[in-house]
Amino acid sequence: MYDLANSKDISDTQRYQAIDAAHHINAFLDQKALNQEGPRVMVKGRGVHLWDSDGKQYLDGMSGLWCTNIGYGRQDLIKAAANQMDELSYYNLFFHTTHPAVNELSERLFELLPGQFSHVIYTNSGSESNEVLIRTVRRYWDVVGKPSKKIFIGRHNGYHGSTVGSASLGGMKFMHEMGDLPIPGVVHIGEPYWYAHGGELSPAEFGLQCARELETKILELGADNVAAFVAEPFQGAGGMIFPPESYWPEIQRICRQYDVLLCADEVIGGFGRTGEWFAHQHFGFEPDTISIAKGLTSGYVPMGGLVLSRRIGAALVEHGGVFAHGLTYSGHPVAAAVALANLDALDKEGIVEQTRNDTGPYLQKSLREVFGQHPLIGEIQGTGLVAALQFCENKESRKRFENESDLTWACRTHGFDEGVIIRSTLGRMVMAPALVITRAEIDQLVEKTRRAVDRTARDLG
Ligand code: PLP
Repeated sequence: MYDLANSKDISDTQRYQAIDAAHHINAFLDQKALNQEGPRVMVKGRGVHLWDSDGKQYLDGMSGLWCTNIGYGRQDLIKAAANQMDELSYYNLFFHTTHPAVNELSERLFELLPGQFSHVIYTNSGSESNEVLIRTVRRYWDVVGKPSKKIFIGRHNGYHGSTVGSASLGGMKFMHEMGDLPIPGVVHIGEPYWYAHGGELSPAEFGLQCARELETKILELGADNVAAFVAEPFQGAGGMIFPPESYWPEIQRICRQYDVLLCADEVIGGFGRTGEWFAHQHFGFEPDTISIAKGLTSGYVPMGGLVLSRRIGAALVEHGGVFAHGLTYSGHPVAAAVALANLDALDKEGIVEQTRNDTGPYLQKSLREVFGQHPLIGEIQGTGLVAALQFCENKESRKRFENESDLTWACRTHGFDEGVIIRSTLGRMVMAPALVITRAEIDQLVEKTRRAVDRTARDLG
């Protein structure tokens, strides 16, 4: 690595890599190994494309971290931020105050949300939304006179964020091993990953079996002690797993029967990803809370939120008194103005409908045409503009490679060489491009992904 003080004539790329190595602990990687290699330095984004500091162009098949739903470089969002900074750059929701930007946003948000929702607590990220979930749900049960209902049930390989509470709700073993997680009062059941765990069962049978694990767990813990079940409608970071159709209706039945809140983490699924505004609408269930972030502002500025059903909102407002909880940047005016511009654009330009009726089905069809017979791909899952390719050693027996994570990581690297960004998660390659992607860009995305997968197949010999 370059010694900044003693290096002359180094390129911008080398300079940023040296600063990065000197000062950063970056996300989910071995920093020492990264320092040897040097990170890519991304400098510009437009639509679905990114450029690095060496001028190489990439088709961003992951919309950043599944967040830039509206694409990069939108002048309407940029102007909304600048105007709001000029008008009122900051104020808070403490001390009996509010401001126009957050109210305009909330009015719009609840026009787009299904009618069972009434209230929101704004946050700055998905992790925070799920931290807030833990406190808010426990507060709700206190307020309605059931204070023993405290335990949260999550799922193995669920991902709900990186902070103490959110990482506890998540079921990533390697995260739990760092920092004595989960915290007390959080337990997990299995993931509805038919390809890996379904054995001889049909997907429908397996979906019911997985859902009934929740019932067994509730009965084991005692329904009077269980506060909520928390899950992503489709599991994102944990492999982009789409549950069998039988899963969500049964989960909803169980939650209702035992009076356990059903909490959907829509941090990835929200704001059009599946072709519906919210992913639970695609899967046809009715959650009591929704955690949101990412696509709310299309990643232009940080903002998240915890959306509450009327039942929870009314209880907290009518009977809760003071909720000793607040964040300095909750409902930040600049973030709110950007979120409003983003929701307006997604709505008025018909981008969600386009995802549902045109580009989404086109991506799904193209992937099935290109990878349906591919020897390395055992399963293709997805809907709207989100999809996963399952790597496999044997298609008939659904045998997975022992080193599948190494293989998908190599595939991801081949993707970068081919000029496409796709992600490797737990033996699957996943993609979730910006919702503004065109059919022609989808053709490029699929073709570049095919080349990356073929190169991985050639590595195997
Ligand atoms: N929940 C889900 C489903 C996520 O995918 C993520 C991040 O990828 C989070 C929560 C955490 O969000 P953030 O990284 O904004 O804290």
